[in-house]
Amino acid sequence: MLITLKEAANRLKAADKILITAHVQPDGDAIGSTLAAMLMLRSIGKTAQIYVDDIARKNLQALPHFEEIRRPKDGEKFDADLLLVLDTSTDRIGNVRKLTDAPILNIDHHVTNKGGDGDLYLEPAAAATCEIVFKLADELDAPITPDVATCLYTGLATDTGFFQFSNTRAETLFAASELIRCGVSPNFISEELERKSLAEVMGLRAALNSLKMYYGDKVAVMTIDHATAKTFDSTEGFIDEIRVIDTVDVAFLITEKAPNFCRVSMRSKGVDVSKIAAKLGGGGHLRAAGCTLKTTLAEAERLLVAAIGEAL
Ligand code: AMP
Ligand code: MN
Ligand code: MN
Repeated sequence: MLITLKEAANRLKAADKILITAHVQPDGDAIGSTLAAMLMLRSIGKTAQIYVDDIARKNLQALPHFEEIRRPKDGEKFDADLLLVLDTSTDRIGNVRKLTDAPILNIDHHVTNKGGDGDLYLEPAAAATCEIVFKLADELDAPITPDVATCLYTGLATDTGFFQFSNTRAETLFAASELIRCGVSPNFISEELERKSLAEVMGLRAALNSLKMYYGDKVAVMTIDHATAKTFDSTEGFIDEIRVIDTVDVAFLITEKAPNFCRVSMRSKGVDVSKIAAKLGGGGHLRAAGCTLKTTLAEAERLLVAAIGEAL
């Protein structure tokens, strides 16, 4: 059921033990929003614990309280009276679903979130889930400490490409401004996030070498095979290197995370890539979306090129 932010806050106020989670392959918004929510809920007297069924990229580990995030173990249970799912629909949280049978409160900004599993506060115009959690602090009367502010600012910054993408709106910059007032150091966050290992830069070189253009150079595709992919932990920012090509409307990055398991990132300047991603079992936003394909790298590329051909 769709609910308002005030109703979402009331669900949280009525609960005592809250299990918080976000999507697998967690990004800055997933980790930032869960950490901020955990700290805010604790500050108003709740028991709150984060579980995420994946490993986050190294850069995010500098966030305050990151070390408290747990990964569910086989057969593990967690005693909770509410499951708070952030930055995703409830079907992308892996084995966290098995930790509890508690009712679900879902807070998200993905236009492709169809809900149907518990209560959903959806705000597709929000640049990041962190932008929503920032407003939630007010509804909960929870203080925005410097740690909370650092986590929230990280999600705003990562989901907007440091306030450059079209999802950046006045509310986003208002939130960022307030968060700086609350103690954020923007340079600390950007320096942590931009750091790359040598293997990652070499991976970017390999990815650029794989670049192929389709449909009169409107579509750019980069691939990373498994042997290369396993040498580093994140492809954050890679796709931006080809998205900027002047003729490009749609860019794809296909990463072979494991044999027959490819993760796809999509970026667009016009075409609605969330529709293409949803058709292939994924989701996302108008200009940034993704999906996972259980195929070889070559087959994934063929599928994507065919799907985008229909959309252009
Ligand atoms: P990324 O390319 O990983 O930065 O993802 C771009 C956007 O698409 C983000 O908002 C993701 O949450 C969303 N997204 C990526 N992969 C998936 C997927 N398999 N299912 C649903 N949404 C996805
Ligand atoms: Mn996310
Ligand atoms: Mn997000």
